[in-house]
Amino acid sequence: MLQKTSQFMKQANLINGEWVQADSGQTIDVTNPATGLKIGTVPKAGKAETRRAIEAAQQAFLSFRKTSALERSKLLRKLHDAIMDNQDALAELLTLEQGKSLTESKGEIGSSAAYVLWFAEEARRAYGDVVPSPWTDRRVLVTREPVGVIAAITPWNFPSSMLSRKLGPALAAGCTAVVKPASQTPYSGLAWGALCEEVGIPRGVVNIVTGSAGEIGDEICANPLVKKITFTGSTEVGKMLIQKSASTVKKVSMELGGNAPFLVFDDADLDRAVQGAIAAKYRNSGQTCVCTNRFFVQAGIHDKFVEKLAEASKALKVGSGLDAGVQQGPLIDVKAVEKVEEFIADAKAKGGKVVSGGKRHALGGSFFEPTVISGATTDMMFMKEEIFGPLAPVFKFDTEEEAVALANDTEFGLACYFYTGDLGRAFRVMEGLKYGMVGVNEGIITTPEAPFGGVKESGLGREGGHQGLDDYLDTKYVCIGGLGL
Ligand code: NAP
Repeated sequence: MLQKTSQFMKQANLINGEWVQADSGQTIDVTNPATGLKIGTVPKAGKAETRRAIEAAQQAFLSFRKTSALERSKLLRKLHDAIMDNQDALAELLTLEQGKSLTESKGEIGSSAAYVLWFAEEARRAYGDVVPSPWTDRRVLVTREPVGVIAAITPWNFPSSMLSRKLGPALAAGCTAVVKPASQTPYSGLAWGALCEEVGIPRGVVNIVTGSAGEIGDEICANPLVKKITFTGSTEVGKMLIQKSASTVKKVSMELGGNAPFLVFDDADLDRAVQGAIAAKYRNSGQTCVCTNRFFVQAGIHDKFVEKLAEASKALKVGSGLDAGVQQGPLIDVKAVEKVEEFIADAKAKGGKVVSGGKRHALGGSFFEPTVISGATTDMMFMKEEIFGPLAPVFKFDTEEEAVALANDTEFGLACYFYTGDLGRAFRVMEGLKYGMVGVNEGIITTPEAPFGGVKESGLGREGGHQGLDDYLDTKYVCIGGLGL
């Protein structure tokens, strides 16, 4: 199996076109969450290596910014093809370090390629404006230019696709990049370096450093050559990066935590709602920012929904992501398992009932049973906190107003979902929900064509859609005078 992945499993950092080790020679171990066994190491880089990567990106920017949009579009198309040509190998590498099922990994790699293709197309549409001038002898132009060096910091739950949404628009716009993948899943990020080399993206345009998050983050925030930080991860780290980068007034895009509600009304199609619930809850073992955190179900349909959700949860096949037919892999580590156990203990102590699952899986390690809890109440931990695990708490509600108020009662505002067969209700509820993304009778809604992102403490900026390019471009107003007209 490693035969396939080995060409992409880079145990080094990419700085200015060279694969290098940390100055100190220190490394970080990377383990397979399904076995707990070490699969390799990556360099433990710090400030100095990051500074060199930023300087290389700045040097490369001087020429890369002058490439035409068509040229960059062609490079991105090649990158898309290289990703798809190696989809199986990249998916195996992803499963090996992250744990998700091979089916999900292939889906993630396919999604990465799709974002790259989308931005290959968008590269050619970074239009400016010719504005009607208030002066007869002057003309008013608005142009858009790449911001410069961008720094991208990504999480472990989607180590490939979270990067595609950042590198895709960055390269499309003509920016150069310094990337810091998550320490638990660095190989899928480093693989982008190998792919970029393969398709001829010039040296220094994409640099990748792994290692001490604090040191790398501090250098990125303080270095004036970095013009933009794009981060996907926890709200806590996101807030800190916003604060630290204020000293050099950088653009920031923040894709942060969520607390997605999933509302099921009495008039919903029950089977469709259960199918959507399974997808929106258990994908990546519940470890996605758009995973349902709270189910709110109307009294008339509540008992049937809980019964069917529990049945469907029990039927999910848990196991190593590399084994055929597996639908749910392990959690990223035992700390994540302990956190899920804390949520369950808290709910039980406050009157919640475990309807299915509820404990560590017989496979041991960080495997956990898909779990449904009924009788959830607003004083339980999951009302406020992100679970990030395979636990589905179900609350009961009576009225539409009550459901919308409960759904909005959080500082987060990333994704939400609701199921109804009533068109008027669909519009009322959709307009009442304070979220960046709404799934109506759909549990999986992410696509490169649409702007992904949140409101409130879930973040700033959008990834995907035509909006996804905006944050990588500066707007320049040009007034041409003395035309003598
Ligand atoms: P995290 O702890 O915030 O880590 C994310 C990244 O930030 C990692 O690369 C991490 O490096 C790095 N980091 C940590 N401390 C840092 C610092 N002081 N300076 C600079 N970088 C630092 O988040 P996570 O646990 O990996 O990811 C889960 C979170 O991401 C959840 O809250 C989830 O909702 C959110 N998420 C959001 C979206 C979205 O689009 N809104 C998508 C996916 C995930 P190390 O790995 O080296 O610690």
